[in-house]
Amino acid sequence: MKPWQWILVSMIAALVVGAIINASCVVETEPELVFNSVGSALIGVFDYIGTLFMNLLKMVIVPLVLTSIVVGIAGLGKTDGFARLGGKTLLYYTCSSFVAILIGLFMVNTFKPGLQNGQPNEEIRSQFEANEAKYAGVVEGKLVGQEGGMNAVTDLFLRMVPQNVFDAFGTNNKMLALIFVSILTGVGLIFISPGGRGPVLSFFEGLNELTLLITNWVMWLAPLGVFALVAETSAQTGFEIVKLLAKYFLVVVAALLTHAFVIMPLVLKFVAGVSPRRHIYAMRNAILTAFSTASSSATLPVTMKALRQNAGVSERVTSFVLPLGATVNMDGTALYECVAVMFVAQVLGFEMALSTQFTVVMLALLTSIGVAGVPSASLVAITIIVYNVGIPNPEAVIGLILAVDRPLDMTRTAVNVFSDSCGAVLVAKSEGEDVLTADSVGA
Ligand code: ASP
Repeated sequence: MKPWQWILVSMIAALVVGAIINASCVVETEPELVFNSVGSALIGVFDYIGTLFMNLLKMVIVPLVLTSIVVGIAGLGKTDGFARLGGKTLLYYTCSSFVAILIGLFMVNTFKPGLQNGQPNEEIRSQFEANEAKYAGVVEGKLVGQEGGMNAVTDLFLRMVPQNVFDAFGTNNKMLALIFVSILTGVGLIFISPGGRGPVLSFFEGLNELTLLITNWVMWLAPLGVFALVAETSAQTGFEIVKLLAKYFLVVVAALLTHAFVIMPLVLKFVAGVSPRRHIYAMRNAILTAFSTASSSATLPVTMKALRQNAGVSERVTSFVLPLGATVNMDGTALYECVAVMFVAQVLGFEMALSTQFTVVMLALLTSIGVAGVPSASLVAITIIVYNVGIPNPEAVIGLILAVDRPLDMTRTAVNVFSDSCGAVLVAKSEGEDVLTADSVGA
């Protein structure tokens, strides 16, 4: 079997194993799932292995982003290419996220998952009212430690400029700062003397090659890591709550799939002129990794590798479009934020005038830029939007959403990563690159 087939098989096996644990090892379901000793021990092992795998992926993020951007930009040799690339990339990010949000808005207004017979769904409402205190606590707990917190939008630029250049390398939470420092370094290298540029650029080139090699090694462990992550999630999902929120769940998934498998392929085919099937196949490892890890940032090394080695997109384009995309271009997240906020309003019977819905769309677009590429990060953005449009006392519903968040997070993260990869292909094509040829995708 090929590596991606191993990942897929282990993901399916993990779903089955997790479901068995969920069905046979749960001793209490209220207020949250409690497992017997066998179940807890197994979940503990999955958690341990899953965390190790996530750490291995995250470990290569800083050197990979730094070296890719520096080499990519310095390699351009002149700055006008960089500005053109930047313009196209930002245009794509804005348009694709905007379209995603509109799909979400359309679906949630059409299927109204928060209503029952035209009225706010009483069952959902009473369920969260009964658990209000608990869920409010969960939301607060999630918000603490989230970078940016409630001011995520206005803090965007502050977060971009570190006080000390090494701050940008110290943690994976400083992606914007890391990108900013890397761009400055890359642009700066174009302007210094050849004697200074040569050794510095060689150093970054060597480091880039090394990081990609280590990413390859890490991916050998992917089937095991993916198994652990998915089995843990599947074991810990409260199916009672999933049942209660089934309609909401399905609306989110249907909207995400429409964006990824209808809109994006049309764009790939008619705007970029490439085969969508070929592109999806080229990105298979990245999509599966995004789905299992629920983190765009952790998936970044895999996305870069897939685009370069399978889709044949140049280093110059991948190194610019992808690190930025993993941080600021989140179509799935933007779509999800919009659906979630509208759902909360429906359950609470809060009237959403057209102008309020417009505010939701704009805020979803803006906050999705600030959301970090880590699991459950949307929650902060949803909270910001909900407060901004004035929905009263929303914590409990958000807490309820959180109970089914992980599977939705996995799906929207896969969409986020897929959209980044489509952006890279579009930009590469517009730069005259020959991508996704029959030969390249076989790799
Ligand atoms: N988990 C998502 C990602 O990493 C962010 C989110 O929507 O929560 O892309």
